[in-house]
Amino acid sequence: MANLSPMMKQYFDIKKQYPDTILFFRLGDFYEMFYDDAKLASRELDLTLTGRDCGQEERAPMCGVPFHSYETYLAKLVAKGYKVAICEQMEDPALAKGLVKRDIIRVVTPGTVLESSMLDESRNNYICSVYVRGNTAGVCFADISTGELYATVLTAELAEQLKNELSRYSPSEILVNSAVLDFTQLPDFIRNRLSASLELLEDGEYEQQKTTEEVQKQFGGKTLEDLELADKPELTAALGALFSYLHRTQRTGIERIASVQLYSGAQYMKLDLSARRNLELIETMRSKEKRGSLLWVLDKTHTPMGKRLIRTWMEQPLLSPAAISRRLNAVEELTGDAVLRDEIAEELSGIHDLERVMSRVVYGSANGRELRSLESTARRLPPLRSAIKGVQSQLLCSILENIDPLSDIADLVDRAIVEEPPFSLREGGIIRSGFSEELDLLKGDMSSGRGILADIEAKERERTGIPKLKVGYNRVFGYYIEVSNAYKEQVPPEYIRKQTLTNCERFITPELKDLEGRILGAHDKSVQLEHSLFEQVRKEIAGQMERVQHTAVAIAQLDVLLSFAQVSVDNQYTRPIVDMSGKLELRESRHPVVEALLNAPFVPNDVTLDKDENRVAIITGPNMAGKSTYMRQVALITIMAQIGCFVPAASARVGIADAIFTRVGASDDLAAGQSTFMVEMAEVADILKNATSNSLVILDEIGRGTSTYDGMSIARAVVEFVANKRTLGAKTLFATHYHELTVLEDLLDGVKNYNIACKKHGDDITFLRRIVRGGADESYGIEVAKLAGVPNKVVKRAKQILAELTSAAPAVPQSRKLAKQEEAVPLQMTLTPPGEAEALERLRQIDVNTLTPIECMNELFELAKMV
Ligand code: ADP
Repeated sequence: MANLSPMMKQYFDIKKQYPDTILFFRLGDFYEMFYDDAKLASRELDLTLTGRDCGQEERAPMCGVPFHSYETYLAKLVAKGYKVAICEQMEDPALAKGLVKRDIIRVVTPGTVLESSMLDESRNNYICSVYVRGNTAGVCFADISTGELYATVLTAELAEQLKNELSRYSPSEILVNSAVLDFTQLPDFIRNRLSASLELLEDGEYEQQKTTEEVQKQFGGKTLEDLELADKPELTAALGALFSYLHRTQRTGIERIASVQLYSGAQYMKLDLSARRNLELIETMRSKEKRGSLLWVLDKTHTPMGKRLIRTWMEQPLLSPAAISRRLNAVEELTGDAVLRDEIAEELSGIHDLERVMSRVVYGSANGRELRSLESTARRLPPLRSAIKGVQSQLLCSILENIDPLSDIADLVDRAIVEEPPFSLREGGIIRSGFSEELDLLKGDMSSGRGILADIEAKERERTGIPKLKVGYNRVFGYYIEVSNAYKEQVPPEYIRKQTLTNCERFITPELKDLEGRILGAHDKSVQLEHSLFEQVRKEIAGQMERVQHTAVAIAQLDVLLSFAQVSVDNQYTRPIVDMSGKLELRESRHPVVEALLNAPFVPNDVTLDKDENRVAIITGPNMAGKSTYMRQVALITIMAQIGCFVPAASARVGIADAIFTRVGASDDLAAGQSTFMVEMAEVADILKNATSNSLVILDEIGRGTSTYDGMSIARAVVEFVANKRTLGAKTLFATHYHELTVLEDLLDGVKNYNIACKKHGDDITFLRRIVRGGADESYGIEVAKLAGVPNKVVKRAKQILAELTSAAPAVPQSRKLAKQEEAVPLQMTLTPPGEAEALERLRQIDVNTLTPIECMNELFELAKMV
């Protein structure tokens, strides 16, 4: 180390403080990386690895990214879960004496990205902090790009609840204390299912006094009592640790987070990650696309704030009928007035991302264009306010109240910033004339200087008699006088030659140099002055953060309500009655997404579920009949009602569901290496443990992954459990292939059979898509196989086998009775009748090597008796 160059010493000093990051070290126009960072980055970013003299014998491995386009590279590294520390030159290298001062200005981690090019405008980017002690967890979610902060305390079933909360917000980075890792499945859940990065903090980070101070400092000295945190030490610890992490990584601008919103899990419908994914609320299961999801149907928002809020609302359906009705009242008012909707839409479509622009203003990174976008957004607010000034519903009235016209900000920007400011703040040309007298004087100097230059040109032409004499400028020589070779002889002696080119020569004069000093000095001064004026303006706007924030939230709400209203009108949705009746009564209901994707008309269906006679609906019907569609439709309509949207039905009463559980189709856990059946059973176990009598449970073909007997037994036991009020009694939709289960209607309270009607003509089948009472009489599996293109020969043979099986008594088929055929059809072992199964088991256990011939004979006799 001793003979390292001074700059490399500086590098190592800084790197030592940020050992777990990739260090972007600013060197002129590049961010350079050295040693292991360079090797790693060259691999991950496909950059050429070079070397740099570092004072030692071997050159230091190095690679770099241009500073003006670093964001793309940064984005790639952060997306791969790396943390990147950005080290800037803290003084102008041209003016620095000796080594340029450098320091870390920010550490960028997945949860602390601010660059707009790295953020999806349609979703929040949360960083989460969890602190667990004993049976209590403090949990908070912050989006530093919008200033939002949500926090809650969990006190029971921590592992389960943590998973639910994390699924709701889907943070990209999670800070935890060591106790969180005691929930053994959680790290895997975080990394693999949520794809979030996990950061374990030292226990010292959660120390009470330290975290209390952090929290109070963040909220301007408010006490824990003021913040309603006094009785929440675990939450205070989680918040405090989050703030000190943000201070460590961000250095500036954390003041954007100005308040904390406490929430309780009891406010929102419980939806675990499987339910969220299975129901395809935000994206489709297979292709992870928005198209085909419920969000795709409901999102007609116009602003980035609205896009983020509609997601948030969909991620957290409400439980309070009053809160839901407030939204429904607003939606209803908007559905009734097409002109109003158009007017609002018109203004909203001109509104930019107020929240994130404001964050960049507060963090001091917004440029002139962003201030201009703030201005043009603010100009939309007065007409928006006057468009909605006559509204009646409570929610719309409070939105109107919260939209501040922000005219002062718009006026300030208008006065201060030119209409089309440059991207960079370093070249001037940002501040409008008339805004600052001092600046105008400087600019006057510059332009009068330029005027004098023009005069010089004319004067010298005349004096020397050289007609093509020109005054020009370049970066190396500054201002010069150019004379073409033809007039070389006429150049006066006092001209000082600076440069000889092929066709001409360039000269300077003392007068020219003097003028140059004045012009360039004024230019530098004016650029500097513009920069500091710009910063003043930016700061002044930053001081209005709260007003802008309230306005942004109100606009987001208006945007989402308008979207709900517009979609409801376009798709003929109706207002649901939402209450605590526990009933779910839908007439002529449709699946909102399938309906939108289908070219053919969607066949509407009724739904009746309640807490008494109609708790469990057992739904039978062939594959492809529409069972899953029907069940998902019920879940989606419940969610739509509870987020305050109208629903696709002729009429709807939706008793509040405290949770929706689903066990549907293949799960994405399969990729993680578990067997289908294991995943299925783990999900069933979760549901049975966590559902309440107010939950809605959707079970699709439970028990399919194992042998017929096992599967059917499990399915039946599950129905018995969910139907029984003493064990659960939840509203349940249960689709099954096991027609045998339809007997349960007569045996259990609250169970009703339904099937989806089909028509059979010969070998062909028509799906009627109508749900009707009663069990299906046939499963039509072979007809569906034919429809799907299974070769005729196989279809024919299947029918033959089926005929033999069904004519054979008892109900359980006996393999020996099957007709012979050239290609023997292997039957599942599990179809073996019970007696034979016992014999088989006995056979397996015989160790032939230890038996005498007589024992063998006896054993054989026993076995023969058993079959
Ligand atoms: P199942 O679960 O019984 O195998 P699905 O619910 O997957 O059947 O339905 C199969 C297809 O039938 C769906 O993809 C959809 O296109 C169509 N479908 C289902 N229900 C309806 C309906 N009510 N009206 C029109 N088409 C429907």
